[in-house]
Amino acid sequence: MTLPRKALFDVPDGVIYLNGNSLGPLPRGVAERLTQVVRDEWGKELIKGWNTCDWMGLPQRVGNRIAGLIGAPKGSVMTGDTLTIKVFQALSAAMQMRPERKVILSDDGNFPTDLYMAEGLIRLRDAGYTLKVVPPEEVAAAIDDTLAAVMLTEVDYRTGRKHDMAAITRKAQDAGAVMIWDLAHSAGAVEVDIAGSGAEFAVGCTYKYLNAGPGAPAFIYVRPDLIGQAEPFLSGWMGHDAPFAFDLGYRPAPDIERMRVGTPPVLQLSALDAALDAWDGVSLGDVRAASLALSERFIAEVEARCPDLRLVSPRDGALRGSQVSFAFEHGYAAMQALIARGVIGDFRAPDVMRFGFTPLYLDEGDVLAAVDILQDVMDNRLWDDPAHRKVSRVT
Ligand SMILES: *Cc1c(COP(=O)(O)O)cnc(C)c1O
Repeated sequence: MTLPRKALFDVPDGVIYLNGNSLGPLPRGVAERLTQVVRDEWGKELIKGWNTCDWMGLPQRVGNRIAGLIGAPKGSVMTGDTLTIKVFQALSAAMQMRPERKVILSDDGNFPTDLYMAEGLIRLRDAGYTLKVVPPEEVAAAIDDTLAAVMLTEVDYRTGRKHDMAAITRKAQDAGAVMIWDLAHSAGAVEVDIAGSGAEFAVGCTYKYLNAGPGAPAFIYVRPDLIGQAEPFLSGWMGHDAPFAFDLGYRPAPDIERMRVGTPPVLQLSALDAALDAWDGVSLGDVRAASLALSERFIAEVEARCPDLRLVSPRDGALRGSQVSFAFEHGYAAMQALIARGVIGDFRAPDVMRFGFTPLYLDEGDVLAAVDILQDVMDNRLWDDPAHRKVSRVT
């Protein structure tokens, strides 16, 4: 298998897309699949489609394909809802597994929604829980036997810094805590061996490196031996043992189906299913090697040619995910100037310019062309234009 597989993606002409870490581009075949599902399945089968097209089995079928990308066995991954919801499911179940412990540990590099959901759950439980948030490099030292759960995002959305999943999981479990990994910036970006890590739970989204489109469904992994003990607090009918018995009382499905909540988003799951075709026959080891080569080249070129930019990602590739971030005082305007010239990255407050490297559709020529444009923006202060300072709702 060789990378890139540019022919499998519809990236517009004149665009160098360095934002696949935020929203992957459109894989070829997705639009056709959506049209087919809408016209032939929904249009012709109508409600029979739940059976004749097995829409009901789609969440787990697609989950099994994602399992293959994160080192999980079949039957351990469920798709649906959004990542924010899956964080709630994993954390609420984890808290229930250690009822005598009242502290949840996370870090300040985590994506805010994960922390917000923990806050909300703590308020909801109203049982003396606290959320302890430490800097990422202090996580290991903060693990002790008061913790119910350690909840971390493996790759930092802002800097690309990567936790040592195996070591932290071991430390958390040695202290008796439940381990939850958020793989939002890992799935499809780095090699993940979630089963090998022994972590109890993992969650992630599919619109970033898995290219399934805006609002695509999220996923949750539960360690197979624990599925029967993972309490589904979002006890919706689709996670019931027999949804169509319409019992008045909730009884969770014995398997990963219990992590379903309500009616699955069939169109978006179909888009995800088609988007995953781009990964057929791809080794994550090859993706990781190519991503490191591209990012290393980018760092070297930017540092040589754009002295005003300061690397805020770890320099050591082994400690980095698949994105590279540079800080610059006028980073927002500089990113707008880049986007206006066809190089699409993004910006995270207060001053971080993010560039994602996604070897499925990027090569070294793209990296060098992007740096040429970045150097032009910096050398000629092209960011210093009022048009580039106007802040949009989404950055
Ligand atoms: C992207 C991301 C999210 C987004 O959650 P949604 O529910 O999909 O909006 C959450 N957590 C992390 C760590 C992320 O990187």
